[in-house]
Formats: sequence, C-alpha cells, structure tokens
Amino acid sequence: MANKIARVPVREQDPQKRAANFEEVCYGYDIEEARKEASRCLNCKKPRCVEQCPVSIQIPRFISQVLQGDFAAASRTIAEDSSLPSVCGRVCPQETQCEGACILGIKGEPVAIGKLERFVGDWALEHPSPAGQTPPSNGHKVAVIGSGPSGLACASDLARMGYRVKIFEALHKVGGVLEYGIPEFRLPKERIVAASVENVKRLGVEFETDTIVGRTVTIDSLLEEEGYQAVFIGSGAGLPRFMGIPGENLNGVVSANEFLTRANLMKAYDSRYDTPIYVGRRVVVVGGGNVAMDAVRTAKRLGAEAFIVYRRSEAELPARVEEVHHARQEGIEFRMLTNPTEILGTEQGWVRGIRCVRMTLGEPDQSGRRSPVVVEGSEFEIECDVVIMALGTSPNPLIAATTAGLDTDRRGCVVADGQGVTSRPGVFAGGDAVTGAATVILAMGAGRKAARAIDEYIRNK
Ligand SMILES: Cc1cc2nc3c(=O)[nH]c(=O)nc-3n(C[C@H](O)[C@H](O)[C@H](O)COP(=O)(O)OP(=O)(O)OC[C@H]3O[C@@H](n4cnc5c(N)ncnc54)[C@H](O)[C@@H]3O)c2cc1C
Ligand code: SF4
Repeated sequence: MANKIARVPVREQDPQKRAANFEEVCYGYDIEEARKEASRCLNCKKPRCVEQCPVSIQIPRFISQVLQGDFAAASRTIAEDSSLPSVCGRVCPQETQCEGACILGIKGEPVAIGKLERFVGDWALEHPSPAGQTPPSNGHKVAVIGSGPSGLACASDLARMGYRVKIFEALHKVGGVLEYGIPEFRLPKERIVAASVENVKRLGVEFETDTIVGRTVTIDSLLEEEGYQAVFIGSGAGLPRFMGIPGENLNGVVSANEFLTRANLMKAYDSRYDTPIYVGRRVVVVGGGNVAMDAVRTAKRLGAEAFIVYRRSEAELPARVEEVHHARQEGIEFRMLTNPTEILGTEQGWVRGIRCVRMTLGEPDQSGRRSPVVVEGSEFEIECDVVIMALGTSPNPLIAATTAGLDTDRRGCVVADGQGVTSRPGVFAGGDAVTGAATVILAMGAGRKAARAIDEYIRNK
C-alpha cells in the first residue's frame, strides 16, 4: 500500500547548534503540517496501528479529527486511552509499536502517528478546558507511591472516580523519570512535564514531596493509621546496575541515573545552579538503550568528547531509532561490538581509560538477539576520564523490605497480576516497579488498569 503524499518532515534544531545547548531538538508539526500528515492516513477498517498500541488509542479516529481541524475532539479521543499524549508523542518507541505496524510502512513511510499525537497533546496543554467540577468525593482515600507516569495515571483515574488521592514522592519534584531522567532536549520540563502534572492537580490530586515510603511513612502506617483504603506502588526501577569489573570504584565512574539526575533534576547544565557535575574531557558511556543515548548526548552538550561502547551491533541497539539517529547527527561516536573488561586508573585514583575486548555475534539467546562472544586476544584501551554506566536498573528494595506480605521476584520486582493486584490485600502495583525498566506508555497503562482494580476492590470491601 503506497501513498502519493510523502511523509511530512518534522522541523528540528540544527545538529551542530543543538549539540551545545539543552533546548528541545524537535520542533514538532504546526497546524498546516499536522493536517497534511493526517491526510495520509487511510482510515483502515482493521487498523493495525491500534492493535500494536500498548493502550489501544483509537488512532485513525484521532487522526481524522486532526484532518478536520477539530483538535479538541482529537484530544478527547486520545484521552480515552492515554493521559500523557505530549509525553508519549515525544518518547514512545513508535517504530516498534503503532508506526511499525502502519500499513503505509509496507511500501513506503508510515503515518507519523507519534508526531501527530504530540501535536494534539501540545494543543491541549495550550488550550486547557475551563476547570471542570472535581467529582463529588466518594469518601474513600487512596495513597499512591511515586509520581512517575504510572502513579500520575493511576491517581488521575481514581480522582475522576471520586477518590481522594495523595501521591507520596521521595524527590522534591514530581514526574519521576520524566523529570529526573529524560533530558530537557527531549522532553521540556516546564512546558510539558509540569503542565501535565498541573492537569493532575486540577483533578484534586494532592502531592507530598520529600517523603520516602519505607522511611518517613510505611505502607502499613498508611493503611492502618492514616485511613487509606488502598495503596498503589508506582515507585519505578531507579537502582542502577554496574558491571562488576575491576576499577568501578575509581573517581570518574558514575551511573547514568546519577549523572542524568544531576543534569536534569538538579540543573547542573544551567549556570544559575551550583550542582557539581564532573564531565572531564573524554566520556565513555557503556550501554545501548535510551538511558545511554541520553547520558552520552548530555555529556556532549556539557562539552566532552563522548562515545558509546556497546557489546552488540547496531541492529541490536535497544534505544529508539530516532535517538540513535540524533546522537549520530550530534557527533557521538559509536564503538560497537566492544565490551569493557576493566576501568584503568591513575595513581591518585581517577579514571584514565577503559580496557575493552572486541566481540562477535553468536547464536540467538533467550531474548532472540544474537549473543555477543569475545574475540580472543582482541584487548585494547580507550583513553577517557569519565565512564558512565547505563546498563539497566532494578527496583529499589526499600518498599519490599518494609512491607510484610508483599511478594517480589528474583529481580526485586513487585509481583502483580495484569490488573496490578499484589500478594498483599489492598496493595496494588504497576509500571517499572513490577516489570523492571520498561517504557512510559506501559507504565501509564499499568497505572490506569490498577485504578480500575482499586475501585473494584474498595467497592466490594
Ligand atoms: C534516562 C531515561 C530515559 C528513558 N527514555 C525513555 C523513552 O525514550 N521512552 C520510553 O517510553 N521510556 C523511556 N524510559 C523509561 C521510562 O521513563 C520508565 O519506564 C517510566 O518512567 C516508568 O514509570 P514509573 O511510573 O513506573 O516509574 P518512574 O518514572 O521511575 O517514577 C517512580 C517515582 O517513584 C519515586 N519513588 C521511588 N521510591 C519511592 C519511595 N520509597 N517513596 C516515595 N517515592 C518513591 C521516584 O522518586 C520516582 O519519582 C527512560 C528511562 C530513563 C531512566
Ligand atoms: S495503519 Fe496507518 S494508515 Fe491505517 S489507520 Fe493506522 S495510521 Fe492510518
């Protein structure tokens, strides 16, 4: 299936300029561009794009509403299934989801569903509907742990059903990874994240920041002393992994989570803030996912020569295709089929380089990807003064350790069924805390499902 109109290109900041600033890379579509792109959609009777959307957004319906210029209706259509369209339009891996399945992609370019979703989401943030009445309280209180996409989505849906909801957040700012992990140049904090959080506040959801559940309060005290009828755990997977190779305790080795938190949450890139961040002259980022791309592009923007070291080949890179493309445009060097074996230090205990081996690809492993095999005798060194580890994360064990009767699996993830029901009555969970590090849309979808399960649990109590 082909389409005579070519996919409308999206305007972006010039790569050389943007590699030295933190402003958003992609400008998105304007009204004319959005309507032209929307005109490409064939409005399929059996839309493959919807089947591949993790939350089943009615894609052809919202696209035809964009085509008609009825952006308010398009926004309502998306809102039936997603509460964060401006975020998901920017960060979802559309190439493996909706756009990957779009029929136009068979012979040409798929409809730019993500860019259209972003357009509608941004339009809605700029045209907020007049503050509606918050629904009358049904007299029940629910506590939500964590203010990332899963917690925000769960809290919004419960508030719409009449529950009094309070989100407990360990950090001083809300938004979870959207605030502390994904950089400003991909996801603007004030214009998009704070505005999306504002919509949640307008529903009457309360926030208590600087509160670590498991320390300041516990799930038991929330349920037994503070009058909450249910708790949703949306505490994410913020505990970084390291490789376990010699030299990882040298000065200059840092997890991507810490590096990005300093840059994003603590604004280390902004001279008006005094957050320290050590970047050095040459930075090696180990890993190939979105977190690695964000770390390496941040290091580049902070003035370093920045490299990716990844043990498989380009085809296996787990990062979004768009992020890899943008990183290359910005001058990031990729050392593929390369695996670190040791971090080398100076006598004073600072990083001076990283020893690596070359890899080749063998048989597919359990994930279906060909597994990397060491090429004997291929050791070599890369000179650098900072090594950033972006090897994945797992849930922090604090909540499980302080909550009796809450089962976790061997990775430390909370065990919950498809509706977020855990082994502890009244306690529900979703997002990265259950799946391990995954995606925004899956976390948001899990939060919404858990809201329905919590409602059913409280009504049947
Ligand atoms: C750098 C980076 C880039 C990413 N890029 C993408 C991308 O491009 N596309 C994509 O789809 N996904 C991306 N992801 C993954 C995505 O952001 C996560 O899957 C998603 O945010 C998970 O949402 P969540 O609500 O489960 O948890 P989180 O967003 O992690 O939020 C959890 C919140 O809970 C709080 N918390 C934790 N413990 C406690 C406690 N004990 N008490 C109180 N509060 C607590 C944390 O401070 C945090 O604010 C990225 C992740 C990172 C780190
Ligand atoms: S598969 Fe593509 S062309 Fe068909 S409805 Fe979805 S976006 Fe439109």
